[in-house]
Amino acid sequence: MSTDLDVAVVGTGMAGLAAATELSRAGLDVRVYESAPHVGGRTASVRVDGYTIDAGAEQLSPRGYRATWELLARLGIPEHEVPLIKSPIAMWRDGRAHAGVADPRGLLTGAGLSPLARVDLAKFQLWLARRRGEFDTDDPQRTPLADTTVAEFARRFHPDVHDYLLQPVAGTFFGWDTERSSAAVMLSLLLAVGDASSWRTYRGGMDTLARRLASRLDVRTGQEVHQVVSTGNSARLRVGSESITARAVLLCVPAPVAARLHPGAPEAEGDFLRACSFTPALKVSCLLDRPLAPAAGAPPYVLLTSQAEEDVLSAILFDHQKHPDRAPAGAGLLTLMPNPATTADLLGLPDEEIIARLTGAAARYLPDLPAANRRNFVHRHPHGLPEATPAALGLRSRFMARRLRPVDYAGDWVMLRPASEGAVRAGALAASRVLSRLHAPLSIPTQARSRRVETA
Ligand SMILES: Cc1cc2nc3c(=O)[nH]c(=O)nc-3n(C[C@H](O)[C@H](O)[C@H](O)COP(=O)(O)OP(=O)(O)OC[C@H]3O[C@@H](n4cnc5c(N)ncnc54)[C@H](O)[C@@H]3O)c2cc1C
Repeated sequence: MSTDLDVAVVGTGMAGLAAATELSRAGLDVRVYESAPHVGGRTASVRVDGYTIDAGAEQLSPRGYRATWELLARLGIPEHEVPLIKSPIAMWRDGRAHAGVADPRGLLTGAGLSPLARVDLAKFQLWLARRRGEFDTDDPQRTPLADTTVAEFARRFHPDVHDYLLQPVAGTFFGWDTERSSAAVMLSLLLAVGDASSWRTYRGGMDTLARRLASRLDVRTGQEVHQVVSTGNSARLRVGSESITARAVLLCVPAPVAARLHPGAPEAEGDFLRACSFTPALKVSCLLDRPLAPAAGAPPYVLLTSQAEEDVLSAILFDHQKHPDRAPAGAGLLTLMPNPATTADLLGLPDEEIIARLTGAAARYLPDLPAANRRNFVHRHPHGLPEATPAALGLRSRFMARRLRPVDYAGDWVMLRPASEGAVRAGALAASRVLSRLHAPLSIPTQARSRRVETA
């Protein structure tokens, strides 16, 4: 049967764009549908009055982002377009910011940990160093602690290691509740990306790579896909009032959205899709008439707070410290992130109320905020980050061994990795699965082809 397209990709996040790029390079006729008016998904940036606002992702690392750096090199994006973030991550405790979180210097400075907890931090780091080879971000379900939550793991150490390190890092960077999410995923990721002093950002905004990839593809923004149905050897999509057929459809959307769009998914797929819960995320941007910083010490890039003593905010990000181009000369840009326990409730409130609550709480750390704050934006992500629970890890091996079918998936959740590199890797893997199915000689049984891809 002839189809309208070889491959229809749903979603212009990093997963969809990485997959579409590989499939187009292989000579297939690929079209990418995106419901939003812009590309990038959770790596999108917004440009207003000379400010560049990252609405979702904030940074990447020179380590643990191999597939991303390969794409950057292939597109000719030079390293200076992805500069180092020169400021530290700090922890708020006892009325001041303590620099050195997620940095070896933290052992010396304490980074907000009490002296006894510092001894346990050293033990924690030693334990990690000894078992480094056993953790694998691509296969977290096969690593130590796959059935242990972050909070359970933290109970081996002084309570500060949870309250003033693991909880604030997991809560801010992944939106996680440490009682629910897997220690295996968090520790694999921390080991893979290395210390925070090496982290980088895109000079022109976090959507730099997405926009560059999209410019080379057939992308249709503002076109929401409503349903995908498998029709034997191909699939049909409902896009607005149109019906489109394709030899393959890649759902590159968060797992709960994929489950809704493809209700006919076979059991092994459906079970994993349903287990892949997401935490919501929300950010409030504050466009300032001057750069602000906490009163004492070197200005940080991120000021973390602990849930143990702060119930409104999780962190304040100083975007003008991340890169000076984020704000006009002499101005400043902040991002306020709520305590993850309250994010779900905040999502439904009007913008003004969210802004009032978060800016009110931030004034405790930055007394000049009310005077410097000129304009605010709220960025909502109902599906912010994959929660990576032990239950989801338990179902992943079966999902990864699924048969090649006309409807397949990509997204950070496929790797159970709450980072854009997970999305890029999932996109590349999905592309190889599509190519294998469309180009494989028909005599090879589907099951055998599936195994071949998985072990590639
Ligand atoms: C607040 C926040 C901070 C983060 N910080 C970092 C960070 O610092 N570093 C890092 O590496 N990662 C970070 N991440 C994670 C990173 O952004 C994601 O892992 C990654 O961008 C996910 O890409 P994706 O392609 O899987 O999904 P998405 O980016 O969610 O892409 C899915 C796309 O599908 C579209 N879509 C959905 N439904 C439909 C439909 N029915 N029809 C058509 N299109 C549809 C969406 O609009 C979206 O564009 C952060 C995420 C958030 C939310």
